[in-house]
Amino acid sequence: MRTITVQLGAEEARVDVAVDGARFRRQVGYRGDGPWGLTRWTDPADGAAYVVFSGALGGAADLLGPVSGPDDLMPTALVVDGAPVAVTPPAGALLAGHHLGFAAGPWRAAAAAGVVVHARSSLDADLGDLLAETRAALDWLLDFFGGSAPWGSDYAQVLVPDAPWLAMEHPGCVLLSERVLAADPVRRMAVLAHEAAHQWLGNLVSPAAWTDVGAFEGLAELLGQLTCRGLLGHDADPYLDARRQTPPLVRLPGDDPRTLAATAGLAEVAGPAQHAELYRSVRSSLTGDVFRERVRGLLLDRGGTATSAAQIWAALGVGPQEPVRVSLPVATRAEEGAWLRQVRDLGEEDPATVALWARRAFRAAPAKGGRVADAVAALGDRSVPRAAAVGLGAELVRGARRLD
Ligand SMILES: [Zn+2]
Repeated sequence: MRTITVQLGAEEARVDVAVDGARFRRQVGYRGDGPWGLTRWTDPADGAAYVVFSGALGGAADLLGPVSGPDDLMPTALVVDGAPVAVTPPAGALLAGHHLGFAAGPWRAAAAAGVVVHARSSLDADLGDLLAETRAALDWLLDFFGGSAPWGSDYAQVLVPDAPWLAMEHPGCVLLSERVLAADPVRRMAVLAHEAAHQWLGNLVSPAAWTDVGAFEGLAELLGQLTCRGLLGHDADPYLDARRQTPPLVRLPGDDPRTLAATAGLAEVAGPAQHAELYRSVRSSLTGDVFRERVRGLLLDRGGTATSAAQIWAALGVGPQEPVRVSLPVATRAEEGAWLRQVRDLGEEDPATVALWARRAFRAAPAKGGRVADAVAALGDRSVPRAAAVGLGAELVRGARRLD
């Protein structure tokens, strides 16, 4: 049993971890950006302070130190003191560091039919549609997976501002960007269902190594797409058609970002949509019913154990597959563009934000100013943050047909 107690202070948090009689304590300063690792922000609307923690993308190090890996599964209780409301994982759930997420502060809760949405107190939004859409997605997936709900009584989601991603599937504390409220309803349903599917595939059965993350992302993505199509019918087709037109993944020179805690969960590395197409073709060859039975069999056999991508493919009765990865040419540059100097300065903190900013910087750079040569050179340049290189690689393969 691992017990993590987080005492929230104004400047930093005190974290006590007890594992099988061994104890350690650390003082952790809050990060300003995020939510990645332990972050604290003040709502400008009313001055209220919120703390959000995400253990994904290497953020677990803030609570557990750098030793935590995807296979450190153990019964874990996370207790958060010092906030009016704390949204935490179910006590005693089998969790690895990257599963851990919590939200603390004066959250306002809206609830209906076993779904809870926590939002900051100043957020003036009707959450009724979000509650109903989540319920519909959960019901579709409960029917697919069979058995009981892996999240216990209530399914809790927390709306957070300024997240670089749309959602993160932490057990007991699914984080959603406030941007989902304004998103296209089909896209919103796909995101809600993707995160809900992770409660089975990713949380109940979880990756053995960082290189296995893509396999789980692909299954959650496919289930999200199937939920969308099942609930919204042909209205979902334009979104799903666009979502499925995904470029290949890029192969970076040097370290494989799939093996790094800080980058393995990035969409550009894990390739959810690319992996989903592989599973979709297996499902077509097996028929939907057989595919569903084999996924259920995977859960029965592997629930609560770290599971490799190879074991997932074996459970489906087919050999392992990987999406295509393209090697981009090695380039040297004469003089580096100003935009790339900014990317170089992004640092290694918060990989999801770094990848996003790098992509934005590339798009904003003058198309005729040598940005493609700059970006290609950056892929193999170890002084460029790896998350930024991954983001730039995604831009390059996406735009491969219209390179300047
Ligand atoms: Zn996912």
